[in-house]
Amino acid sequence: MFDFNAPKDCLKGKKILVTGAAAGIGRAAAVAFAQYGAIVLLHGRNEESLNPVYDEIEALNLEQPAICPLDLEFAQPEQYEELAALIEQEFGTIDGLLNNASLLGARSPIQSYDQSLWMKVMQVNVNGSFMMTQAMLPLLDHDQPASVIFTSSSVGRKGRAHWGAYSASKFATEGLMETLSDELPGISKIRVNSLNPGATRTQMRTWAYPGEDPKTNPTPAEIMNAYLFLMSDDSIGTNGQKIDAQ
Ligand code: NDP
Repeated sequence: MFDFNAPKDCLKGKKILVTGAAAGIGRAAAVAFAQYGAIVLLHGRNEESLNPVYDEIEALNLEQPAICPLDLEFAQPEQYEELAALIEQEFGTIDGLLNNASLLGARSPIQSYDQSLWMKVMQVNVNGSFMMTQAMLPLLDHDQPASVIFTSSSVGRKGRAHWGAYSASKFATEGLMETLSDELPGISKIRVNSLNPGATRTQMRTWAYPGEDPKTNPTPAEIMNAYLFLMSDDSIGTNGQKIDAQ
């Protein structure tokens, strides 16, 4: 596991937007960020899907979260701008953005990969992260340090057969991270890194490896060290890095 012992309250006062917070790793990250003191802005496909994580954070008596619904498959650039305007109105600025929401698509050879599914995976995984980040950059750019995390995968660093659009989308995600992280030093206090969670016990992992015993993989809550590190001020100075959570 990534070696970081998160100090209690290391995210106190920070406002952090987590995409794909309804389930899996995004949900665990949202709860962990709140447990370490952050006000979490929960993004998901719709309000209904976010209610359970909202209720979980409320039941723990943590800082009250906010709900930010937006379906990344269909959202137009104006809707990202509208979301940013609403967040600015309510919170002024934000201190962190975890781009986590993704689709797996099909485990299929490129030769026969369904073209409409390819477009859908690219729309959610690449264009969605791009538009979300572009809309949020003005809110992240202020006099305090801020952190953007892009979620990668082992197949975003080395391609493997039958990972199709998902693999290509994660390579694109790494490219987006590298490009942005090279643009911001000197003109802002925003640091930008990518994070590969590694095999983790979620719905996506089950879809990718249906024959695997889920218990062989850690739960999302067990891989949070790297997430907490990258969101906390301990990672100031870490920029343009490809981090592994495990
Ligand atoms: P899950 O499938 O469990 O969760 C994905 C999240 O993304 C869900 O909350 C889902 O919402 C959301 N999402 C998907 N499509 C949309 C959309 N159109 N609009 C809004 N939200 C959407 O995946 P994981 O938690 O496993 O994965 C989290 C991240 O980690 C992903 O980026 C994944 O690629 C990466 N990863 C995961 C690994 C693993 O072993 N689990 C390994 C390597 C990387 P909804 O529930 O409504 O569909």
